[in-house]
Amino acid sequence: LPDARDFTGRDPREVLHEVYGYDAFRGDQSDIVQRVIDGGDAVVLMPTGGGKSVTYQVPALVRPGTGLVVSPLIALMHDQVDALVANGVRAAYLNSTQAPPSARPSSRPTSRATSTCSTGATTSAPTTWPWVTSPIVSRVSRAWRSPPRRRPRPPARSSSGSACATRARSWRASIARTSEYRIDAKVDPRRQLVSFIRSQPEGSAGIVYALSRKSVEQTASYLAAQGLDALPYHAGLDPAIRAANQSRFLRDDGVVMVATIAFGMGIDKPDVRFVAHIDLPKSVEGYYQETGRAGRDGDPSVVWMAYGLGDVVQQRRMIDQSPGDRSYKMRLGQHLDAMLALCETVGCRRQNLLAYFGEQSEPCGNCDTCLTPPDTWDGLVAAQKLLSTIVRLQRERGQAFGAGHLIDILRGAKTDRIAQQGHDRLSTYGLGADLSDQDWRSVIRQLLARGILVAQGDYGTLALSEASGGVLRGETPVPLRRDALGRTGGGGGSRQ
Ligand code: ADP
Ligand code: ZN
Repeated sequence: LPDARDFTGRDPREVLHEVYGYDAFRGDQSDIVQRVIDGGDAVVLMPTGGGKSVTYQVPALVRPGTGLVVSPLIALMHDQVDALVANGVRAAYLNSTQAPPSARPSSRPTSRATSTCSTGATTSAPTTWPWVTSPIVSRVSRAWRSPPRRRPRPPARSSSGSACATRARSWRASIARTSEYRIDAKVDPRRQLVSFIRSQPEGSAGIVYALSRKSVEQTASYLAAQGLDALPYHAGLDPAIRAANQSRFLRDDGVVMVATIAFGMGIDKPDVRFVAHIDLPKSVEGYYQETGRAGRDGDPSVVWMAYGLGDVVQQRRMIDQSPGDRSYKMRLGQHLDAMLALCETVGCRRQNLLAYFGEQSEPCGNCDTCLTPPDTWDGLVAAQKLLSTIVRLQRERGQAFGAGHLIDILRGAKTDRIAQQGHDRLSTYGLGADLSDQDWRSVIRQLLARGILVAQGDYGTLALSEASGGVLRGETPVPLRRDALGRTGGGGGSRQ
């Protein structure tokens, strides 16, 4: 690149200022940069948006030779190279999408490939590693973009005794975020979503995550029909439309992007004011990563989720039907359980989230459970009524049913199905009329989340688990959370 500047041997702070326009290093950046410039090894664990880029890019510029960045995602390579080139740095990427003869570091335009290598930074994927044997590569750094693993082992010495790993110093930044966490019981998700969005400052940009493409499209149309500037994004959309929607989201103010989790990888929009989930994420890791796209600029942001019984039943079914052996399914089940525990906690959401990743913290004072500590009530008798209904149907008639019909029995409803099946003759018929339909859904959801009940098969029929016995015998206490509906602008239902 004719206009690219040479920063070899320069003061890192000056480079930071001239290339990135920042006044000072943040947090541990300065120590890390110095360590790498001095030829040391560093293992840095920071959340997305923590400022990792500078820690490997500045040393790549200051040290003689070429720095190599190994990156897990082609989209991230493009972003980084574009940003560096725009700042006047010689940068190029190398990845498996390039045809073998040109599979040399190539920036855009391709013809400048080889000269780029002589100095500057190159971004590459592991598949193209053979190229790394080139003597002009002076640094190898790996850009970790994945969310922090649960209780990571100390990285030093963890790798197979290579000189490099044992000499590495490590830095670990807090993964805490400043977002306000809100999780509401799902009653009428689209209406709840609209009132949540309307409760945000006018013109706020946000991302709404849904599980399926169909749900993405329907939700985007619904929001648009409500007068919101909402666009869909998922892998099945026409590429031109997808690209146009993405660039509108990045460029214009106040666009709401309704997306599957495919959206967000490599998107660095600092002023996303809210992230909403209308379907339960599959894991706490996923939830952390998706919600982490809000408030990267450090200004206030809110992350909101509506979660209900249907989510639990649906996800258990997806796990049952997923290809994979028993231990794989068990792992998926554990991920889901951790996510459910976060949803049903009566403690601080943020504290729970951080504790999941092994970080101790104080209650945040800013999440829904901190602001309005949830009421709890003794759900033992309700749980016993439900479990004994399930037991009777199973033992006396060999039948199993989903939540809807069981609730009808407990509430003494007069439906055709109840009449046909003679379920009004069950001894528990009408025994749970003191609770509303919504209350019962909340009870069942929480029992499922705790493994006191299990949902089975295509229709999510409910069955007892090993943990049910203790409840039926009255030995296991069943404190339940009373759902707060509409507390966070969710609307959509009233408490009974
Ligand atoms: P990561 O690679 O860890 O995801 P980035 O390197 O993309 O994070 O940085 C996240 C955000 O913080 C970016 O918007 C970047 O511009 C900003 N940033 C990073 N370092 C500094 C700094 N020293 N001063 C000001 N802003 C910074
Ligand atoms: Zn809190």
